Amino acid sequence: KAGARAASSFVFDKAFVNGEWVAASSGKTFEVVNPANGKVIGSVPDMDAADTEKAVQVAYKAFQSWKETTAKERAALLRRWGELVHENKEELAKLLTSEMGKPLAESVGELNYGAGFLELFAEEAKRVEGDIIQTPIKTRRLLVLKQPIGVSGMITPWNFPNAMITRKAGAAIAAGCTVVLKPAEDTPYSALALCDLAKQAGIPAGVLNVVTSSRDNASQVGKVLCKSPLVTKLSFTGSTFVGKLLLEQCASTVKKVSLELGGNAPFIVFPSADVDAAVLGAMGAKFRCSGQTCVCANRFYIHESIYDEFVQKFGATVEKELRMGDGTAPGTTQGPLINKKAVEKIEAQVQDAVGKGAKIVCGGKSTGGNFFEPTVLKGVTDDMRCAKEENFGPIAGVIKFKTEDEVVALANATSSGLAGYFYSRDLGQIWRVAERLETGLVGVNEGVISVPDAPFGGWKESGLGREGGRYGIDEYLEIKYVCMGGL
Ligand code: ADP
Repeated sequence: KAGARAASSFVFDKAFVNGEWVAASSGKTFEVVNPANGKVIGSVPDMDAADTEKAVQVAYKAFQSWKETTAKERAALLRRWGELVHENKEELAKLLTSEMGKPLAESVGELNYGAGFLELFAEEAKRVEGDIIQTPIKTRRLLVLKQPIGVSGMITPWNFPNAMITRKAGAAIAAGCTVVLKPAEDTPYSALALCDLAKQAGIPAGVLNVVTSSRDNASQVGKVLCKSPLVTKLSFTGSTFVGKLLLEQCASTVKKVSLELGGNAPFIVFPSADVDAAVLGAMGAKFRCSGQTCVCANRFYIHESIYDEFVQKFGATVEKELRMGDGTAPGTTQGPLINKKAVEKIEAQVQDAVGKGAKIVCGGKSTGGNFFEPTVLKGVTDDMRCAKEENFGPIAGVIKFKTEDEVVALANATSSGLAGYFYSRDLGQIWRVAERLETGLVGVNEGVISVPDAPFGGWKESGLGREGGRYGIDEYLEIKYVCMGGL
């Protein structure tokens, strides 16, 4: 059977439409490469606009019956889907590491997080409730219904090849919507593995469709998802540049849009902080996923009174705790970056910083292939590229500050507003700064804060809408006011 599971594991070589494994109508494929060693894992269909239109038709047809199911029925299927992720975690983690590069332990962490969304949205499906509003006119009754918005287009990135899919598709399917999703070209296998498990769980044909495409075809696939009148919702996670483009494209059909875009997270350590705890938090906030998450700390602001102590301890911990290598090798904490371009960007940021007077505390160079040493830079200032641009890599630029007002102003002086972190033990300051940071997520005395239960999303140019928690399902619901008159 076409697309049958390859000998080893969950490596499917076909896209998934209408519950079937399908090739591109052109017959074209593209290769998927392991970023740790450059070896080709396999090929998947390089689908185009026509393939995407077909998938949209399928999802539209499936929506007509899926929206009629009960929340309880949908919840049972979502829960089973999540259980299957847990039951196959080891194999899925190997697959995730092979296409994305993160260490196995982090892949397992992502799968727990990813399955967590399926579990959470299975529960939330049953809590979508309308309202009856007090009427100002005696002969009427005013009702509010919440109904699934319809076919939802999704475009996901490579850094969380599993969880970014369950976070979106879990919410959509729970709400009664159907899905056409394009995974990142770097990591289609984790998406296809999820399709197999969705099918095993009993999620009906056409509810979840995954269209794979190369980078070259991404824009035509994206255009169909944005412009098709049959698609009523678009959810995207990726770069700010592409997000803005998609938002423009969605204007033609006035789609409801969710965007999770780039960040430029400040990580502030105030004088009252527990410096050791702050160093530990900084390790997670910066070096998880080799720095390749949109909530990674991008600028470290350390109060002048503890600056030297923090820099010394941070550098020493990086040197002691972090090991670069193939994500499947025991002891690896730092996998490769996703590709050569990512390494070149980090190299350029380090060169720029050093050229402007920053000093390397540890790391500082690439070691071949897609690997770049975990790096701490001191004497960094806000005009350096590493503090202005999103790093998306393992470099930590440490900046000195004097006052709370100054550091809050610096932290907010960016068009991004996704995550912000700070360490303090001054209760008044904790409230003040948590409220003053212009970000959608704030970590207070914590460096890794994402959980399926909490709303995730950015302010300013970091995005639109929220994912996760009970807020996540709202993105896939329309509100309808029903006025019952003549009573
Ligand atoms: P990154 O630089 O991290 O790859 P991107 O925003 O470029 O971030 O990619 C995120 C997702 O957006 C991927 O699935 C990618 O294929 C997709 N993508 C990139 N360009 C476009 C486009 N023009 N239209 C639609 N999707 C796109």
